[in-house]
Amino acid sequence: MNEARHHDVVVLGAGVSGIYQIKRLVDLGLDAIVLEADEDLGGTWYRNRYPGCRFDSESYTYGYSFSRELLDEWHWKERFSSQPENLRYLNFVAEKFDLRRHMRFDARVEAMRWSEDERLWRLRLGNGDEYSARFVVSGIGVLSTPAMPRYPGLSDFEGDAFHTYGWPQDPVPLAGRRVGVMGTGATGIQVIPAIADEVDELFVFQRRPNWSTPLGNAPISEAEMDEIRSRYDEIFANCAVTHGGFDHLPEPRRFRDATPEERRALWDELYATPGFAIMASNFPDIFVDEDANREISEYVARRIRERVKDPTVAEKLIPKDHGFATQRLPLETNYYEAYNRENVHLVDLSETPIERFTQRGVQTTDRHYALHLMVFATGFDAVTGSWDRMEVRGAGGVSLAEKWRDGPSTYLGLMTHGFPNLLMVAGPQSVSGSTNFPRAIENGVEWVTRFLEHATSRGVTRVEAREDAEREWVREVVAAQERMLLRRSRGWFTGYNANVAGHGEGTVRYLAYWGGAPRYNERIREAAAEGYRGIAMD
Ligand SMILES: Cc1cc2nc3c(=O)[nH]c(=O)nc-3n(C[C@H](O)[C@H](O)[C@H](O)COP(=O)(O)OP(=O)(O)OC[C@H]3O[C@@H](n4cnc5c(N)ncnc54)[C@H](O)[C@@H]3O)c2cc1C
Repeated sequence: MNEARHHDVVVLGAGVSGIYQIKRLVDLGLDAIVLEADEDLGGTWYRNRYPGCRFDSESYTYGYSFSRELLDEWHWKERFSSQPENLRYLNFVAEKFDLRRHMRFDARVEAMRWSEDERLWRLRLGNGDEYSARFVVSGIGVLSTPAMPRYPGLSDFEGDAFHTYGWPQDPVPLAGRRVGVMGTGATGIQVIPAIADEVDELFVFQRRPNWSTPLGNAPISEAEMDEIRSRYDEIFANCAVTHGGFDHLPEPRRFRDATPEERRALWDELYATPGFAIMASNFPDIFVDEDANREISEYVARRIRERVKDPTVAEKLIPKDHGFATQRLPLETNYYEAYNRENVHLVDLSETPIERFTQRGVQTTDRHYALHLMVFATGFDAVTGSWDRMEVRGAGGVSLAEKWRDGPSTYLGLMTHGFPNLLMVAGPQSVSGSTNFPRAIENGVEWVTRFLEHATSRGVTRVEAREDAEREWVREVVAAQERMLLRRSRGWFTGYNANVAGHGEGTVRYLAYWGGAPRYNERIREAAAEGYRGIAMD
């Protein structure tokens, strides 16, 4: 057996979170290393190589804000930059700050166990290598464990088949092929129009439709980028004060303060505004008031009917089981127009369910669809999936999977009682999952870094979230979610996933904090200012 390698801090994952976390730890002078399961850095942007994959945060609000030099050097070429460019960006950051030398790839942590006597974590990789660390900081991602559907005969299918998270690095031939796409969430809605004109026939297997509104992508010229650079301070200041962490300022009026004509005028404007403006700059009560939500849903449904030529298809594309923006809102580019093409066919699985996969394709109750390629855009075992894949044992050998069986429970989304010296960036019940991720990730990394500085400079060797503080935080997380209409929706926000055992109908999980970025930031700042209230240290 190999000798365990010891570090002050082990960071799990080399995505947006891990890349920035290692930079701050190295700056602090700590001996830290990133262990990354994949063969290279990037996380989300390394893996999701499917056509059409791009930000739906404005690129310049997604990039890191911590370095003025970086902001000045990087030119975002599109308002909503695509995956290859996003991966180039993360590599650029890693090269610029010389971070690769602190990263080890092909290093999936399979198990980690807290050793009370030694006051350190013992970690085991898939290949048997062992590490130990006083502190572990996780950046393992909330959308990093893909979920496949469960249908009879899946393994019988002899054509090409892959999940969008595993889209191959080599070009995938599409021309002249009959392709199936399963899933009409944020990923499906990106991939479908991106391949529609290349494939011979495209069959979209839809279980339930999602609401979606235009992305509004456009190139960013040199001159525009100069202008964005000159406004960076203002842009990030806006992100810091808005609920979702975007550069879209909120609508001051409430739904009932506006006449039907005024509502219509605002929605026309927001439908034509790029990005998440239709959420962030809408009447705030559309997320909490049934009537307001019904009216915006009817408005967006009308827009879908205007864009899809076949009224029967349009109706199938309009969600009837949830209101607008009560599930993760996908943003689209010509998604609805794709269904006006002769070679694109919507297969409504609520009418004709899949019976089984066959060697040559998919058999529904209605007919057989012969396919060369099947693309599963079926999303993720969100937020806790990557935790469930590891065996994590805390104080007294308690299992994290056991503790979180019915849903996660954390203190500020940063720590969890019973698991000392384990810190989480973009963790469950933080604000990351409900906002523009990198804004929350940077705040999380800053908090963790200052906390570790505080602890290590005082010779503290054990830190643990107090149980009562965790209970109080979970109460706040629950209350925030229960105020929102999304509490009843069946999507990853509420932990629903028909493809993951135990996450089906009737289960509700509290995975993210819905009280907004400003309030969340205030909570974590307060805790720090009060000497890390809620955390036992010795
Ligand atoms: C297709 C797609 C588009 C998105 N678009 C946006 C967007 O426009 N705006 C936005 O704000 N967010 C978006 N997101 C969310 C996105 O996940 C975050 O923006 C961000 O990339 C998260 O970074 P991360 O480092 O926290 O996690 P990830 O990027 O998921 O990285 C986690 C890393 O941890 C590694 N890992 C996991 N388990 C282990 C283990 N046991 N041992 C070692 N390593 C491990 C993984 O391999 C991975 O590299 C999108 C997500 C997807 C899937």
